Amino acid sequence: MRNVLPMLAVASSLALAAQTTPPQAARTYTTPRQAELIQQFQDFLAIPNVAADPASLRRNADFLAAQLQQRGAEAKLLTAPSLPATVPPVVFGEIKTPGAKRTIVFYAHYDGQPVTPSEWDTGKPFTPIIKQVDGEPRIYARGAGDDKAAIFAQLTALSALQAAHIPLQANIRFVWEGEEEAGSTHLEQILTANRDLIHGDVWLVCDGPVDQTRRQTLIFGARGDAHVQITVYGPNRSLHSGHYGNWAPNPAMMLVQLLAGMKDADGHVLIPHFYDGIVPLGPTEKQALATAPVNDDMLRQELALGHTDGGGKHLLELINQPSLNINGISSGQTGAHSTNSIPPTATANLDLRLVVGIDPKTQQQRVIDYIRAQGYFITTTPPTRDELLAHAKVAYIQADPGEPASRTPIDLPIATDVIKAIESARGKVILLPTSGGTVPLDAMERAANTRTISVPIANHDDNQHAANENLRLQNLWDGIETMAVLIAMP
Ligand SMILES: [Zn+2]
Repeated sequence: MRNVLPMLAVASSLALAAQTTPPQAARTYTTPRQAELIQQFQDFLAIPNVAADPASLRRNADFLAAQLQQRGAEAKLLTAPSLPATVPPVVFGEIKTPGAKRTIVFYAHYDGQPVTPSEWDTGKPFTPIIKQVDGEPRIYARGAGDDKAAIFAQLTALSALQAAHIPLQANIRFVWEGEEEAGSTHLEQILTANRDLIHGDVWLVCDGPVDQTRRQTLIFGARGDAHVQITVYGPNRSLHSGHYGNWAPNPAMMLVQLLAGMKDADGHVLIPHFYDGIVPLGPTEKQALATAPVNDDMLRQELALGHTDGGGKHLLELINQPSLNINGISSGQTGAHSTNSIPPTATANLDLRLVVGIDPKTQQQRVIDYIRAQGYFITTTPPTRDELLAHAKVAYIQADPGEPASRTPIDLPIATDVIKAIESARGKVILLPTSGGTVPLDAMERAANTRTISVPIANHDDNQHAANENLRLQNLWDGIETMAVLIAMP
């Protein structure tokens, strides 16, 4: 008889734990502790995190390793053998679960964009403050939305699950980068040097904002990007436009004629084969796009756009296509500096966004072939005097290595499980086959031999990359619930 009572107590506490779901655990943990958690988040935000200050970036990394260890995770700072000590390390954390069938990796970054303090209302980007916006509290500091919120949500979700005695079912790994805003210069190198540690069945890339409607959004890929810079040539020195106009060819005119032929009035690219090879969206992706909210009218108002490209297609449809954008054109001078002259050169920088099925080199080559077909001699080094004399038209082309696109099928089993887990906490989520922008997902997938799904939690209006960056606190509380279900998923 004496043994029965403690056994009953154990059984009932197990039953209680079994009844508490991860989102309930998150709420039960955060609601009575909001003030304390906001203070902890502020302490984290108060550590400067810009590339120009590697010592402070290192303090962030040490702080995070300690936070992981406090929660029972193994933690270490990862780098690659040949890298100088000033390169911010990747913070790595791991919780092994006996019998786990899966390993889930949570990616986020602890560095932030550079700051210009005079542009901030407070003048102090690393002194966090709380302000009310539309009757809701937001926390203001560099990194608040992009991307310390995701890291803090993951740490807090872990505490909440532990407080509710909810056992983990998968192996959990954390990979927190310190160079994302500097272009992830050494990420692939560091990941490759630590291949065994960072492999997982899926990488959840916790970065960026949710949809403008504030609903939880999942993004299954990113467009790639490649650049082509074109310089065309007129006379080898600036010439008087009166004495030589009508005779000496004007490179600015040649360049705009060349560029104008690349697109029709609807924004459709006319370069041969430009859309060849696109891997089409599957039925699940098409269904997801058809049910995603269309915010085009709102955006058109916000941006004062009298018309849009794409022949009536929505923004979300159009970002699933490759694009050709003129980043900038320069030749001669305008305004007060304008002179009546024929400039010697004209240069345009083209930005080619890529989708799965079209790699950077292929797309750059299509643009180059088009330029050649317009009668240009192509050179990849600055042209010599002999080359300029020998050819009617010369184009000097500079192409970058580019970044390929990446897309995870929405109906992959791991993707279905991630969607199901999040919807159990947060209701219907918005599923997007790709983001319009470019994230080094492909590099992560190559190095970690994995698939990626992006799980953003920040508000869309968080002034990411600008002054007065902020996080709507409700996004933090919701984000902690989202991270709790993901950390606890099988
Ligand atoms: Zn970010």
